[in-house]
Amino acid sequence: MSNRSSARIYNPNMECMSRDEIHALQGERLAKTVRLEYENVPMYRKRMQEAGVKPEDIRTLEDLQYLPFTEKTDLRDEFPFGLLAAPRSEIVRIQGSSGTTGKPIVSGYTENDVEVWTEMVARAMAAAGVDENSIVQVAYGYGLFTGGLGAHQGASRVGAMVVPMSSGNTQRQIMMMKELGVTHLCCTPSYCTYLGETVREMGIDPERDLKLQGGCFGAEPWTEGMRQHMEELLHIDALNIYGLTEIAGPGVSFECLEKQGMHVNEDHVIAEIIDPATGKQLPCGQAGELVFTTITKTGMPMIRYRTHDICVLDDRPCACGRTTLRMGRITGRTDDMLVIRGVNVFPSQIETVLVGVNGVAPHYMLVVDRVNSTDTLEVQVEMTEDMFSDTVGHIETLRKTIVDQIKSVVGISANVRLVAPKSIPRSEGKAKRVIDNRKL
Ligand code: AMP
Ligand code: ZN
Repeated sequence: MSNRSSARIYNPNMECMSRDEIHALQGERLAKTVRLEYENVPMYRKRMQEAGVKPEDIRTLEDLQYLPFTEKTDLRDEFPFGLLAAPRSEIVRIQGSSGTTGKPIVSGYTENDVEVWTEMVARAMAAAGVDENSIVQVAYGYGLFTGGLGAHQGASRVGAMVVPMSSGNTQRQIMMMKELGVTHLCCTPSYCTYLGETVREMGIDPERDLKLQGGCFGAEPWTEGMRQHMEELLHIDALNIYGLTEIAGPGVSFECLEKQGMHVNEDHVIAEIIDPATGKQLPCGQAGELVFTTITKTGMPMIRYRTHDICVLDDRPCACGRTTLRMGRITGRTDDMLVIRGVNVFPSQIETVLVGVNGVAPHYMLVVDRVNSTDTLEVQVEMTEDMFSDTVGHIETLRKTIVDQIKSVVGISANVRLVAPKSIPRSEGKAKRVIDNRKL
């Protein structure tokens, strides 16, 4: 596993300030951003006028709560350039969201914004032990999606040798990983699992044949159980990295080797947790919707952007020495939450159950339907090869165990269907884990 001594704090001046210093800096930068938006972006000016807030009212971090929220629909409505705060000539990059329906969400980045983003990912890379001696394979997709270019820029910034594979072509990925002696991997957790399983199937022993030590994995929700599975498969330290196109792509927050939540790059963004129903701020330790304000971006800065991601913030100091707020894992989204027979169900809860059960692999699909006006949930999960070839009747026992555990953890009766190994489609990017036929 990773050589801890090689992990370092990339920018201690910014990552290890006292909480008071961070708050003062955030207040100062917030005031500047609010003025920039007010003067240059009609939508923000109008929203602030409607809320009765003027730029001069926003002086400290505490004043943030008076500002209106921004929603994904605002980006859609103002698509493509309505929210730019800088002249078009200063925009050097467009990145887009991976959403598959409707108009895309795009964000325009100035040279300054690409620089800010690169610095944020560089911090994540350094925290994972990446340095000038590392070889980093980027298996996130390159393109409008921020994963590929984001990881690429950050790894380059710390001086690593970058292997820009993009996603897909799994056998070739593994060949390169082996032949080049890749030390760090960056991709979605679902693709990492797929890569890891293929490595094993090819008879490659990661400890003996590969030089992999760790990696930064994100762009989709995953669980502690999934981390363990990935770490065992590839013999690595698997660290979480979070981001979204609207704010800056991956690197908005990242884990250190303590693996106790993701450090928010607070000199560039302000994180809040709100009650999604009332919009009121919640204290650290309480779960709610994550909201971000960018405070150093100039192309398309965002004020109180509602991510719809649900998590908890933690402001206690971390053993690594960083003092920045840490985000817990994203446990769901306010809008991917399934309501099944009145019960709130998050796919991550089902994943937590499945990764804790022997005999199944963490490849699953949730199929929700409505039969005679009643919601149904079918959980399809792949058996391991051993279980699949079982002839002494363990399969039904396994199925019942999963049904019981889902009932006790999630509070809902699900129909569990054990399916053959490799029968659930694999993902090379973000995994699709839910089919909701009720919406059709
Ligand atoms: P996109 O901008 O299309 O890359 O999507 C951003 C969204 O991906 C976020 O709002 C989250 O819902 C999800 N996401 C990104 N990173 C993570 C992560 N580490 N854990 C859980 N969800 C994530
Ligand atoms: Zn830490």
